[in-house]
Amino acid sequence: MALLTVEGITKRFGGLVANHNISFAVEQGEIVGLIGPNGAGKSTLFDVITGYYRPDAGEVRFDRHGLVGRRPDQVNRLGIGRTFQKLRPFHAMTVLENVMVAAMRHQADPSAARREALSYLEFVELLDKRDSYARDLSTGQRKRLELARAMATRPRLLLLDEVTGGVDQRTIPTLVQLIGRLREQGLTLVVIEHNMRVIMSISDRIVALHLGEVIADGPPSEVVKERRLIEAYLGDAFVVPSGERLPSGESSRGNA
Ligand code: ADP
Ligand code: MG
Repeated sequence: MALLTVEGITKRFGGLVANHNISFAVEQGEIVGLIGPNGAGKSTLFDVITGYYRPDAGEVRFDRHGLVGRRPDQVNRLGIGRTFQKLRPFHAMTVLENVMVAAMRHQADPSAARREALSYLEFVELLDKRDSYARDLSTGQRKRLELARAMATRPRLLLLDEVTGGVDQRTIPTLVQLIGRLREQGLTLVVIEHNMRVIMSISDRIVALHLGEVIADGPPSEVVKERRLIEAYLGDAFVVPSGERLPSGESSRGNA
């Protein structure tokens, strides 16, 4: 049985259909890349899965539990962690306090929560920033703080929304390494990512969305050949891993 199953999810905002009859499954231990042009409905789908939005139709199953109708904190307690495309740390708290708040969801003892928070900060290489205020971090550091906060809730499934977006190109290899280490820890991941090189290198499978619908689902080598995907990115930069350009464009898309 798949760990996560998305079954016929439709989510409308007034007349706009942000997700239309989306179905796919994620197996335990898999890294699934979720791609698609801006506005394709990727972040909305994360919001539906994690209880921030209630879909108009469909169901989401996680390890035998139906998720539709549950609140975000309930979904999190079942074992799904996430990061947000629009970062939202507690700016007036230190980096360590931010992660401790997340750890205290399951760890009532503050000193144990502190130890645990420190271990996640070490994992994302932010230990030296533990006493800084979140507002004083760079974008790349904030993304790593988000990751530490999500990990501190001890998820089995982690949903990452553009962890490399808006980040200095030089820090991308660090983030890619971190994702690899998350998998080694036994986490299952769904990763929204615009950088094609990153997505091709980390994903076991890719699900592509366009205008709210799934237009491709398969291994990276197959998905890049999908005509509808190439068309969806027309006018956008899209580069296949060989370096061949389809069509002319930059090496990665801008931030959403
Ligand atoms: P992506 O993450 O793939 O860039 P989004 O899921 O953010 O796309 O958005 C999908 C579509 O839904 C877009 O057209 C966006 O403008 C719209 N949308 C997202 N959130 C809302 C909202 N809260 N209210 C109205 N429209 C929204
Ligand atoms: Mg988005």
